[in-house]
Amino acid sequence: TGTFFVGGNWKCNGTKESITKLVSDLNSAKLESDVDVVVAPPFVYIDQVKSSLTDRIEIAAQNSWIGKGGAFTGEISVEQLKDIGCKWVILGHSERRHVIGEDNQFIGKKAAYALSQGLGVIACIGELLEEREAGKTFDVCYQQLKAFADAVPSWDNIVIAYEPVWAIGTGVVATPVQAQEVHVAVRDWLKNNVSAEVASKTRIIYGGSVNGGNCAELAKQEDIDGFLVGGASLKGPEFATIVNSVT
Ligand code: 13P
Repeated sequence: TGTFFVGGNWKCNGTKESITKLVSDLNSAKLESDVDVVVAPPFVYIDQVKSSLTDRIEIAAQNSWIGKGGAFTGEISVEQLKDIGCKWVILGHSERRHVIGEDNQFIGKKAAYALSQGLGVIACIGELLEEREAGKTFDVCYQQLKAFADAVPSWDNIVIAYEPVWAIGTGVVATPVQAQEVHVAVRDWLKNNVSAEVASKTRIIYGGSVNGGNCAELAKQEDIDGFLVGGASLKGPEFATIVNSVT
């Protein structure tokens, strides 16, 4: 579905020095032309990345505040993100849900606000290991999708990232069959609860231990429309391999 989309989520990693090197590696990498490529640096390095990275790659933030800026100590507003050149924001990442404690409703509000101001949203969903083992994978993903669907007026500017929590940063990648199964379920949910058009147009990307070695098999799956990459996105050449895995 749509243009293949690959995001690099740098999470809370990097220094001025390591990011200078990563940007230089990305600038010299050969990237397939028909892939949307986005990187999400930590807030404090976005300006550095924006001013040194090729325009071929767009910038995402890893989080945003739920509304207009003001007296919200420690938060960063959507308006500020746009001001420094961000086109996207990652929302609902499992680390924000499960480590920091953001809930579905809060995440939905953030998505609605970001979209209302013209940022694209990379909307993350995914089940914990115990939820998968209890047979609740689809239910959990549906609830997370519903929270986004209830909050947003349109899906035009949303990419869904399915990131099973047990696969994130563990080296345990979902098999192509496991990922494809959930991506189909997500698409069916969109068809039944939003519209057939949104179901067929919305890109559903996979995240969780994607690397240069496993990306090609995953990319062959019909409903895997790209990747959200953590660890491997910190290495320019490997990230380029993942970008170029589109078949
Ligand atoms: P890893 O690729 O390090 O497993 O992280 C995935 C992720 O959380 C991307 O958002």
